[in-house]
Amino acid sequence: MNLHGKNLIAGELSATNAATITALNPATGETLPPLFHEASDAEIDQACRLAERDFEKYRQQPPERVAQFLDRIAEEILGLGDELLKRANAETALPEPRLIGERGRTVNQLKMFAALVRDGSWVDACIDRALPERKPMPRPDLRRILIPLGPVVVFGASNFPFAFSVAGGDTASALAAGNPVVVKAHPAHPGTSELVAHAIQAAAVATQMPAGVFSLIHGASHQVGLGLVRHPAIKAVSFTGSLKGGRALFDAAAARPEPIPVYAEMGSTNPVFILPGALKQNASVIAEGLLQSVTMGVGQFCTNPGLVFGLHDENFAAFTAKTAQLASGAAPGTMLYPAISERFNQGVQQARSLPGVRVAGQSSGAAKAGQAQAIVFTTDAKTFFKHPALSEELFGPSTLIVKCSSAGELERIAADMPGQLTATIHGTEEDLAQHQRLVSILQQKVGRLLFNGFPTGVEVCPAMHHGGPYPATTDAHFTSIGTAAIKRFARPICFQNFPDAALPRDLRNKNARNIWRLVDGQLSRDDL
Ligand code: NAP
Repeated sequence: MNLHGKNLIAGELSATNAATITALNPATGETLPPLFHEASDAEIDQACRLAERDFEKYRQQPPERVAQFLDRIAEEILGLGDELLKRANAETALPEPRLIGERGRTVNQLKMFAALVRDGSWVDACIDRALPERKPMPRPDLRRILIPLGPVVVFGASNFPFAFSVAGGDTASALAAGNPVVVKAHPAHPGTSELVAHAIQAAAVATQMPAGVFSLIHGASHQVGLGLVRHPAIKAVSFTGSLKGGRALFDAAAARPEPIPVYAEMGSTNPVFILPGALKQNASVIAEGLLQSVTMGVGQFCTNPGLVFGLHDENFAAFTAKTAQLASGAAPGTMLYPAISERFNQGVQQARSLPGVRVAGQSSGAAKAGQAQAIVFTTDAKTFFKHPALSEELFGPSTLIVKCSSAGELERIAADMPGQLTATIHGTEEDLAQHQRLVSILQQKVGRLLFNGFPTGVEVCPAMHHGGPYPATTDAHFTSIGTAAIKRFARPICFQNFPDAALPRDLRNKNARNIWRLVDGQLSRDDL
């Protein structure tokens, strides 16, 4: 397929703006044709208005049709074959095996949401039948269900060109809930975005969805993203990226005449607490697992373990030395786009310049332009407390190992920590028993607490929670990974004393789809 560089608005190509975005190969510095046209205000307005126009038609589609649409998107993405992999590799420098894996995950996410829609129980139907004889007051008939919010804007993330981008988990869950989607393509992979957008478009045509169900908008100036968030037709936003970007969009959404939810996932330092019993048994294995997790994907994961804490003893010293040694053997890797590697290098320089912070190990191979070397810093708790910058995310293949002198110091670090996506404890059962307070503090800080593992490699399943208290996300109630992600894009409505025939089908007396419903306090699939 020849790339055209235009916006895709409800099935039509559009390029009215002279401003363009140039795609770059971060590994070679070469530009990649074509030029991509940034959306004009009129194009942004059109995409949002058409999404609004077709919302009602889309939300009334039978669940089986929506499921077919999602399945078909998965097929169309696979149908793009090598062309998609090659373009994504050229735009992101992510190696082909990683891209194949990520494509598989993306396709499976779409199918997972298709299955969820077919199953139907996600709508959380809850029925409390009338009690006309109840004293002193009769109870009315009350029936609650989730319904879609309306058009959703999805910001594609730079670090997952498939799984958190145009047809990633945010788009899949928003479409599954019955909402049209307008995607703001990440400017670091516009060609990949265009290809995937065409897969969605082809699926929409093949399954006869209304045209406004999907649009792709290009933009490298903040005005485009802000214009989408401020548009009155938009009812929710999802975002994965920096704290600065997520917060700017959250503030813009809150300042609208009608504020709307922004589900922003803004990263994390994912602290790892390594307790003495674990180090006594496994120092070397933990060091290997840690370094692998830190360097995976050139460290460009929101679950990258950026901070490590432990009690200073000879095992902790051996663990630190081993991790540092492994870092020196790790090859430098090309980062997603030049500005990300510049930010990483600046952050490394800043950490290096702080008194009391030492580089314990660093890739021995020289880094070419756009590449990052793996790096392991060490410091002590006193220095860590003194420099708040050390507790901020450094996006890339680095970690800071902090030696602490008491359990109280570990607890203070955990208590002072801002909200995180994850925290990890390495320990024995005895360690856990001895550090109950630490475990308890961490529960207040994170969305996922791991034991004897590493936070990268997030499983996509119903029990997953990929979220956490601010600033990890803007809403700790919700996850952006797994089936529960659909809940971000639906809201409850309660029908009181409605005649059966006028109720949404899933709330009627006959449970036509045989879904799970909470009826008078009991889960049931029965007809009433
Ligand atoms: P980003 O700078 O936050 O950008 C993500 C998207 O948000 C882009 O489409 C960007 O559009 C838009 N955006 C950013 N700031 C905005 C603002 N003030 N107003 C309106 N739109 C805005 O993320 P990135 O490019 O992926 O990477 C930059 C940094 O983000 C990384 O160095 C890393 O620290 C962090 N990051 C975190 C995660 C994570 O998983 N949480 C993932 C990737 C990156 P524009 O092109 O217009 O800026």
